[in-house]
Amino acid sequence: MNWYKNTTEELLHTLQTTRQGLSSEERNQRLAKQGENKITEAAQIPTWKKVGKHFTDLLMLVLIVAAVLKGISGDYIESGIIMAVVVINGLVGYWQERKAQESLDGLKQFMGQEATIYVHGRKKKIAVSSLVNGDLVVLGPGDVVPADMRLIETHDLVIEESILTGESEPVQKMTEAITQESTIGDQRNMAFSGTHVESGTASGIVVETGDDTQIGQINQAIQSVKAQETPLIKKMKQLNHQIFKGIIGLVIFLIFFTTFRYGFDLDLLFSSGIALVVAMIPEGLPAVLTMILSMGVKEMSEEQAIIKTMPSVETLGAMTVICSDKTGTLTKNEMTVVDVLVESNVDKEMVLDIMANCQDLKQDEEQKAADLVGNPTEKALLQYAESAQQPLRKTVDKIPFNSSYKYMATRHQNQEEPNASVIFVKGAPEVLLEKSQLTSDQKQWWLDESAKLAAKGQRLIGFAHLTLSAQESLSHEALTKLTFVGIAGIIDPPKDSAIKAVKECLQAGIQVKMITGDHGKTAQAIGKQIGLKHTNHVLEGLEIDLLSEEELQQAVQKTDIFARTTPEHKLRIVSALQANEEIVGMTGDGVNDAPALKKADIGIAMGIKGSEVTKQAADMVLADDNFHTIANAVRVGRRIYDNLKKTINFFLPTAVAQGLIVIAALLLNRPLPLTPVQILWVNMVTTITLSYALGFEKASADVMNRPPRPIKEGILSWYSLFRIFYVSLLIMIPSYVLAIQFEGTVLQQSMLLQSIVFAQAVYLLNCRELVNPALNRQLFANKALLVSLALLIVLQAAIFLTPIGHQLLGIGSLTLMQQLSIAANGALLFTLVEGEKFITNKLQGRQKAAPVKQ
Ligand code: ADP
Ligand code: MG
Repeated sequence: MNWYKNTTEELLHTLQTTRQGLSSEERNQRLAKQGENKITEAAQIPTWKKVGKHFTDLLMLVLIVAAVLKGISGDYIESGIIMAVVVINGLVGYWQERKAQESLDGLKQFMGQEATIYVHGRKKKIAVSSLVNGDLVVLGPGDVVPADMRLIETHDLVIEESILTGESEPVQKMTEAITQESTIGDQRNMAFSGTHVESGTASGIVVETGDDTQIGQINQAIQSVKAQETPLIKKMKQLNHQIFKGIIGLVIFLIFFTTFRYGFDLDLLFSSGIALVVAMIPEGLPAVLTMILSMGVKEMSEEQAIIKTMPSVETLGAMTVICSDKTGTLTKNEMTVVDVLVESNVDKEMVLDIMANCQDLKQDEEQKAADLVGNPTEKALLQYAESAQQPLRKTVDKIPFNSSYKYMATRHQNQEEPNASVIFVKGAPEVLLEKSQLTSDQKQWWLDESAKLAAKGQRLIGFAHLTLSAQESLSHEALTKLTFVGIAGIIDPPKDSAIKAVKECLQAGIQVKMITGDHGKTAQAIGKQIGLKHTNHVLEGLEIDLLSEEELQQAVQKTDIFARTTPEHKLRIVSALQANEEIVGMTGDGVNDAPALKKADIGIAMGIKGSEVTKQAADMVLADDNFHTIANAVRVGRRIYDNLKKTINFFLPTAVAQGLIVIAALLLNRPLPLTPVQILWVNMVTTITLSYALGFEKASADVMNRPPRPIKEGILSWYSLFRIFYVSLLIMIPSYVLAIQFEGTVLQQSMLLQSIVFAQAVYLLNCRELVNPALNRQLFANKALLVSLALLIVLQAAIFLTPIGHQLLGIGSLTLMQQLSIAANGALLFTLVEGEKFITNKLQGRQKAAPVKQ
């Protein structure tokens, strides 16, 4: 249909709708008939492909080839076990990826978009999916257009349509019918689903929904899927490949070495080569790390922080600066007018008239201000005006509020003089004073008075009016020579939870900065109340404009309060902080905040008051708009990163330990102390049990009492390398020495196998804390750890206590005394590692004696 050619009347007629919108019954009927307003998802990658991907990794292919060769040579048990390793790893990898994807998808649904429509003349918020043809939709800045619609009323409406047209220049919209044939980009009386409102407001009639919309026909995913691989996992995979190459080199070396020294033994070389590859490569590690991260995503969502990309979980733990909005995030957003400053009673009447009419919330007299949902500033003003019983006027035109110019204006018919209309303006007092006809003395008086109110922490709104003739249109330029009539002071107390959270962040070495559009003095008073660090100096938007990049870079270090800023300033502040090598979290709600959110390391959108566009640009959405939630997310992020590190610390030494047996045996030309099948078992049994446990560790006591981790920190620090080295020796050597005390190959191998598995379980306990003592009061809090240990015991019992286990693995029973000696061996390992941690902790403590940098 060429909807753009219709006049409004034709449109209303064709779609059987009215300027009051549809009734709810009619809406329900239409919804049942035409279906939900959703775009059918593009064909998914088939499951077999997703599963298959996990088996075609280079490493996996090597193992599969090995298993096949083993099978051909008649070594069925070994072939079977290698295959089991491959299958288990592949399936676990697939399962982890699916779970991670599901947890992110689930959140997307949770963030289901809403639209504002008129139902029977009343504004109502509904789910975008329930929109039907004929619905009357209201658009405002930052909205993503929820369906294709024909506009019937616009106020400075500007829409960005690049998603459809590729044209990045936003388009000014209008309502008149277009007669000539037009392409989408030229249909200026239409708003298309998926495009977004840059500025202005409008209402329009839905003409197409779901797959019938333009975007639905292109069937392009509106929200592009973002990378799920975090920097850490990428590095881990790279490390895996490096280890793989290293091992191949090692195997080649061993083949030459043993062949020249001891003669060629294909069978031995082949099986030890395979055992080495399986044992030494931490093939299960990326899957475990992904699992830990997706648990983090889930946990954060329970804390009301909706994470949109996996890498954010990692970055959150490294955040060094949080830049937060004031209103609603740090303050309660429960606003009350407490002071109205005027010069006369006549002016007071006028102020009340403007309060009641220069607004976007209330449409008819019946509505109670207390029940209205929307902009809390306006709600407070309406409540105040209501108590003075101000009648409502009809609004014929308006300029909507915007954080960049900080005022709004409405146009009303003048009853006495049909040829003139009154313009009501409300906004930041300085802005209105600048546009009003006052002497500089008068202006100064108002400015001084407002500074006094602001110093009490009050949010200030100024009121002014103007008369325009019927011919003059309402525009920004027309707003000059205003008659300024008064100022209202609104209190909006800080949230207790925010005060607490600010304190936590400062303790955790994270700077907290407040960026607000509010008056400098108001910002300063609130900043003091919530406990910001540097409150003596406030940097205002106008001052920022005068600073060069370098000067701003200097200034942001010692400034915690930024006032009278526009969203454009936020972008400069983020850049300046990043130039100082900070990891920046930035909050935002308006459409203009999107660039700053994108630039920040963690862009944080407000779930309740935030616009759709900011939510799309953000890495994290706060479901409750609360600063406290950011602090919680940081804590979870830090804990998750700790657990990743602990898991890596556990994984690598055990892998190296397993490999060392083979290498040592080959170099010394001794029979392998463990058969390849036994080595594979040790590897598999610990991977599927122990390796998952540390992901469930609770946070260390000091998680929010230490500075953020350096972002450049690699996976393998010198300390980790040292750990890997000595722990792998400590797992291997005592076990080996213990085992050879006994007579007979089977018994020796049984002892060695049990002893290594036991040592790994003990070392798992060591790894619960990086450098703090492992045995603390939280020991029993990690149920997963207990379960994984229990599972390990069951699996070990299964092979040691059953004939089939004995046969498969070529082992025999152990006596109680033998088991006890293995336990003693483990206790030795535990004690030595704890001792090393204690010393390291002491040494680190001395280094860290300097106070946390702020
Ligand atoms: P913030 O959210 O940081 O408090 P805003 O951009 O919302 O900043 O507001 C900046 C200033 O604009 C406020 O201090 C107030 O003077 C003015 N203002 C806020 N909301 C409105 C509104 N709905 N109508 C007119 N002026 C407003
Ligand atoms: Mg605001």
